[in-house]
Amino acid sequence: MTVSRDDLLKELGLWPLWRRRDGVVTAAAVDAVEHDNPPPVTQAVMAPAGAAIGPALLPAAAASVLPLDARIAEVAGMDWHQCRQSVAGCVACPLHAGREKTVFGVGDEKAEWMFVGEAPGADEDVKGEPFVGQAGRLLDNMLAAINLRRDRNVYIANVVKCRPPGNRNPEPLEVAQCEPYLHRQIELIRPKLIIALGKVAAVNLLKREASVSSMRGKVHAYRGTPMIVTYHPAYLLRSLPEKARAWEDLCFAVETMKALQSAAVAPT
Ligand code: SF4
Repeated sequence: MTVSRDDLLKELGLWPLWRRRDGVVTAAAVDAVEHDNPPPVTQAVMAPAGAAIGPALLPAAAASVLPLDARIAEVAGMDWHQCRQSVAGCVACPLHAGREKTVFGVGDEKAEWMFVGEAPGADEDVKGEPFVGQAGRLLDNMLAAINLRRDRNVYIANVVKCRPPGNRNPEPLEVAQCEPYLHRQIELIRPKLIIALGKVAAVNLLKREASVSSMRGKVHAYRGTPMIVTYHPAYLLRSLPEKARAWEDLCFAVETMKALQSAAVAPT
């Protein structure tokens, strides 16, 4: 049975709120990309000067963890298989101690679309796949509403690959240690557009504090790749009014992608 987009939106309780607005993202609009290229992550970003990653932070395997600069260089040279293997055995931050499974990422490795969340939750930790459970179903339906699927022209990953205890936000040290994997995934995929899902993902990618509402509706750049910010599906489950705004964001993303595909502008 074929399910229409309107059927999906009705099922989600989003219809008729979720309506596409008329309007096209012009080359000029995308030209206004904010160049938020973050500085390369260094040891200084993740810890105060002189605060080495030592046994107190990494009791199980401190000896096997490379200094961050060396880690960044090592991960930057990995292929998909090496990157997956490295994540599966990673003990570079304290999150390794509480995980059930690492959550590497899922989807099309040649995708034009990349969706990035903050960290695995309980369901993801058990399954080893990002965005499963209720929030995952909502994300899948959001994708379907713009004719996308997680296994076709879409790749989904998180900023950190192991579940923070109690679903707390990842700490700066954890993000700094895990970010080389996300960088490598992005380099291997070379998506045309990144969608940051939620404040934690957006703030960690853009390296500046801001609200989702202030970051929406603009084309940012993450290390040269255009990036749009919208709400995290888990937040949308709790907040009906934001669903309409998330739909606006997806429509904005679709129009931005069209502009990028037509090569009206090149990402800088
Ligand atoms: Fe390694 Fe990332 Fe897991 Fe930390 S969160 S242990 S850096 S894979």
